[in-house]
Amino acid sequence: MNGEPRKIRLIMELRRSGVVDTRVLAAIERVPREAFVPRPFLDQAYENTALPIGQGQTVSQPLVVALMTQALELGERQKVLEIGTGSGYQAAVLAKLCRRVYTIERHKPLLLEAEQRFRALHVHNITAICGDGARGWPEQAPFDRILVTAAATGIPPNLLEQLSDNGVMVLPVGNQGGEQIIVRVRKVNGRPSAENLFPVRFVPLVEGAPPEA
Ligand code: SAH
Repeated sequence: MNGEPRKIRLIMELRRSGVVDTRVLAAIERVPREAFVPRPFLDQAYENTALPIGQGQTVSQPLVVALMTQALELGERQKVLEIGTGSGYQAAVLAKLCRRVYTIERHKPLLLEAEQRFRALHVHNITAICGDGARGWPEQAPFDRILVTAAATGIPPNLLEQLSDNGVMVLPVGNQGGEQIIVRVRKVNGRPSAENLFPVRFVPLVEGAPPEA
């Protein structure tokens, strides 16, 4: 089977699994996931599985990308912060649905590859930097939406502070290897309220300085 039927099969699987937002489905359809996975895994680009991207990291399963994006309730004029650029795939999906994506990755080689992909695909509304995402991006705050794609043991206080009022943050919370759950945090009149959405398995959010090279 070549790319297109596989992609259609994946979209149908996402719909059956609870992705009902047609804008999210259209964004998934328009972003070529094959451009974000390493060559040996190209034939699995439209399988509903996470795939290795180097540095011990993974590009998330398409269903998880779609459900987390849907949970963000994105508006097209919004400014979004993503923590954990990885391959850049999730950022590229977000970029189809909002005004601008700011994304932070602690592994420089992953960041450089992701930036190359954005350029090659002519995606111009993503700004990426290397750093510790747990600190957020104070110079660009506040953000209408924040999406964290690595698991923290709690809601990082800096990120909560950088979320605008009426903002929404979606993040996996839990221990590495243990139970993790996607949490949606809404900030109303400066006060956060959290709801648990669905279980997941993510690599950990590693705090502190990024590794050299
Ligand atoms: N969103 C990515 C998948 C992310 S995997 C994609 O679509 O491909 C999680 C990523 O978070 C990894 O690349 C990891 O290096 C990064 N990460 C972990 N802790 C981080 C931190 N404190 N700051 C920034 N990035 C971090």
